[in-house]
Amino acid sequence: MLDPDEWKARVIAEGVTCCPACESTEITLGATAIGVMTIHQEYICEHCQHTFSGLFALVTWYTT
Ligand SMILES: [Zn+2]
Repeated sequence: MLDPDEWKARVIAEGVTCCPACESTEITLGATAIGVMTIHQEYICEHCQHTFSGLFALVTWYTT
């Protein structure tokens, strides 16, 4: 099982979301909860059925 820091480093280094339990990249997106400063994204691993959530933080604003 990857701990949260190991998981974040892996995802950033490889540019793909992986399962912290089995390290599979067969991940399905679940519900997304958008707040003022955070977004929580649910994930389901298609390989081992592990469910987990990603926490995203506010970075900046920009003009589209
Ligand atoms: Zn898994």
